[in-house]
Amino acid sequence: MKVGILGGGQLGRMLLQAAANYPVETYILENDENCPSAHLCHHFTKGDITDFTAVYEFGKSLDAITIEIESVNIEALEKLEKEGVKIYPNTAAIRIIKNKIVQKQFYKSNGIPSPDFVVTNSMEEVKNQLSFLPAVHKIAEGGYDGKGVQVLNNERDIHKAFSDPSVLEKKVAIKKEIALIIAMNERGETSIYPASEMMVNPALNLLDFQVSPALLPDKILWVVEAIAIQLVKALKSAGLFAVEMFVDERNEVWVNETAPRVHNSGHHTIEANYCSQYDMLWRIILNYPLGNTDPILPAAIINIIGEAGYIGEAIYEGLEEVLKTDNAFVHIYGKKQTKPGRKMGHITIMHKDYQDLTHKANKIKQTLRVISTHKS
Ligand code: ADP
Repeated sequence: MKVGILGGGQLGRMLLQAAANYPVETYILENDENCPSAHLCHHFTKGDITDFTAVYEFGKSLDAITIEIESVNIEALEKLEKEGVKIYPNTAAIRIIKNKIVQKQFYKSNGIPSPDFVVTNSMEEVKNQLSFLPAVHKIAEGGYDGKGVQVLNNERDIHKAFSDPSVLEKKVAIKKEIALIIAMNERGETSIYPASEMMVNPALNLLDFQVSPALLPDKILWVVEAIAIQLVKALKSAGLFAVEMFVDERNEVWVNETAPRVHNSGHHTIEANYCSQYDMLWRIILNYPLGNTDPILPAAIINIIGEAGYIGEAIYEGLEEVLKTDNAFVHIYGKKQTKPGRKMGHITIMHKDYQDLTHKANKIKQTLRVISTHKS
């Protein structure tokens, strides 16, 4: 089978690593010839994934296409789908998720619990919603990694609001942020990974890392899993999805957003679960049985982020020290240049005991730095 991936970042790279085990010829469409996926695919096409012609020309001789980012040209994918190219997930599902307004309306009409919201199209319309605050304003399209999200606690925050089409969503008193990866094949069979939880440590002023399986009472986990199943069944699409959710102070569960693709909250599944999220997506695309999502050991993911103050060729300080740790696995994404905040790689650390696991994750966090010879 000839399968294309739109986007050539680290998610594409890890998908390609898993593809190497299967009888599949891989194609990447991406503007940056030095992207993390460029040297691991069979065929690389330089091109813009948001451009109709680039996506259509890339896809017309392929059997199937998947995405590693939502900001793709959906019209080209729809035309390809009509002409018989399989798209994972299908274009109807991508359309729902791609736009936050449509996504929120989808949750509402399918009875999937997600914070109450109103749609705004201008600053004027936001100002008319003062009684709806505190709320979180989210731009409908083009936001990522927290860009395009503003917390509006009261009138004084209104200047931070977006004038483009957005959703204004009730602020949730979050107790835990969790994420869950769910896979569905063409026959509608589903496979669920254990939920993961984000660990925040404001006291030590440390950045987040993620632990999986999440430590939640069974009662909440059942609700979380039931919501995820309901959600993919309503999307009516084969594929792999990451559902981000909040557990609030009253233990109620709310869907924040869904990603229609492999996701950074599932990196640990490469080592810590029998079948990784990347392997799972190939099983779906190539029409093989779904894999086993059971965890092998509890795991933490520590993102390797470009240190503030450094721009230039990346130097990974502390890597040897990290590799001395039992069950620490290094993933460097192959980006030559570091810059502040850039995702350069991740470490997965596994340990049977949660206390040891978080201790080791914190230690790794403090040991590893991405710098360069030039200070910015
Ligand atoms: P992005 O897709 O850019 O990561 P999210 O929608 O996940 O944006 O929002 C980023 C962060 O903002 C979330 O991880 C959460 O901490 C916070 N947030 C988002 N929506 C809400 C909400 N309704 N109530 C409280 N906090 C929220």
